[in-house]
Amino acid sequence: PSRRSPWSGRSWPLPTKPESVLDVTDLEVHFALHSSGLARLLGRETATVKAVDGVNLTLHRGEVLGLVGESGSGKTTLGRALLGLVGATSGSIRHHPETGGEPVDIATLRGAALRHYRTRLQMGFQDPNAALNPSMTIETAVGHPLVIHGRASGDELRAKVVEALERVGLAPAEQFLGKYPSDLSGGQKQRAVIARAIILDPEVLVADEPVSMLDMSVRAKILQLMLDLKADLGLSYVYITHDLATAKFFCDRVAIMYLGKVVELGPTEEIFANPRHPYTQALLANMPRISTEKQAFGQIKGEIPSPLHPPTGCHFHPRCPHAFDRCVAERPRLIPKASGIAAACHLLEEAV
Ligand code: SF4
Repeated sequence: PSRRSPWSGRSWPLPTKPESVLDVTDLEVHFALHSSGLARLLGRETATVKAVDGVNLTLHRGEVLGLVGESGSGKTTLGRALLGLVGATSGSIRHHPETGGEPVDIATLRGAALRHYRTRLQMGFQDPNAALNPSMTIETAVGHPLVIHGRASGDELRAKVVEALERVGLAPAEQFLGKYPSDLSGGQKQRAVIARAIILDPEVLVADEPVSMLDMSVRAKILQLMLDLKADLGLSYVYITHDLATAKFFCDRVAIMYLGKVVELGPTEEIFANPRHPYTQALLANMPRISTEKQAFGQIKGEIPSPLHPPTGCHFHPRCPHAFDRCVAERPRLIPKASGIAAACHLLEEAV
């Protein structure tokens, strides 16, 4: 089997076993806080937020990897770091090009090299209202990435926009080209945002809460559209969400994040059927059928601590019903198990 891009006409063989698109190793993204403008000028920071704090994970080609966590878990910052939109403090993000060749460490790229890389990975936004410029027609907005990167103009540009719109279900496309975002429903706007994301023929889409602003009746249709596009275009997704219900439906594997760290990682079915980490267990025990962030996370005892002053040892220990002395003093490592799950918990170090 091979993948042929409908956009560029290129084709290449599909992997017969799991193959990495992105390898994230010991990634840290820290933000310095300054008490005043003068302190900033003098380079004196007063505190550091470790938004991403030593993350290791792999995105396989053709899979949907979910980053699941509550506000402050670092999932959005991690997604932005994968796209090169925020700089890494340390660690690496190695991209393996689908056309072969040596992997490239995105964390070290700057300037034109970073801009080129961003055509290979695209972002899908949470809020389609904010993602689309209200004064641009749908034709201009969807074709914008091709113009910015000098990939098409004139009739070719319009043909590619028409093809992208029809591919995301905005058909016949001619009816949408001259419309403005305000003329479209929420679901149609999100389809236009997805059309813009795929028009550069990317390998990876980082989708940050792509359906959370949509009506329940539209969410499943957009997620199904994304699955269809994944199959048709050979995409891989990083799906960022607080919503366990859509993660269960949509993801092949999930990484559960807490205060900048991955605490559990593995196949979705296995994690939902048999969660190992106490935080994951608490999340799933309280999983509502229709999830809001407050419902999903609000029933775990206590508040998520400030990332400015994270707890010592295991960051989850103030809220964990199983915490013991070692949890306060020593940070657990994410240890892979034979079951395919990796978990960061002292209680699980001996288990397989
Ligand atoms: Fe709970 Fe300790 Fe495991 Fe952290 S390491 S999840 S505090 S048992």
